Amino acid sequence: MVDTMKIGATTYEVLPQTGFVLNDRGDALFGQQSYRSLEVRYTTDPPIQVQLKTLLHEAVHGMSDEYVWGIDETMAERIANGVYAFIRDNRELVTDILENG
Ligand SMILES: [Zn+2]
Repeated sequence: MVDTMKIGATTYEVLPQTGFVLNDRGDALFGQQSYRSLEVRYTTDPPIQVQLKTLLHEAVHGMSDEYVWGIDETMAERIANGVYAFIRDNRELVTDILENG
C-alpha cells in the first residue's frame, strides 16, 4: 500500500493501523483524513477492497479541502464510489490517461 498521497500541492502521509480509526468525537471509522496534520489514517482490518475504497474516500475529502469543494460526507461517499468503480471498470482509459495525460 502507498506511504504518501499527493493531492494538488499537498502531500499526505498515509498511515495504516489495526483497529478502527477514532475521530475527535470517538466515532469508529475505517479512515480519516486530516488537513491539519496532513495525515490519512486507515484500518487494515477489513478486506483489501474496503481499504482501497477507504483511501479513495479520504482522498476525496482531501480534494475537498485542497480545492475548496465544501462537500459533505454523503457527497464524498458518492464521488469516491463513483470514481472507484470508474477506475476499476475502465482500466484501458485510465492507463491511457496515466501514460498520455
Ligand atoms: Zn468521509
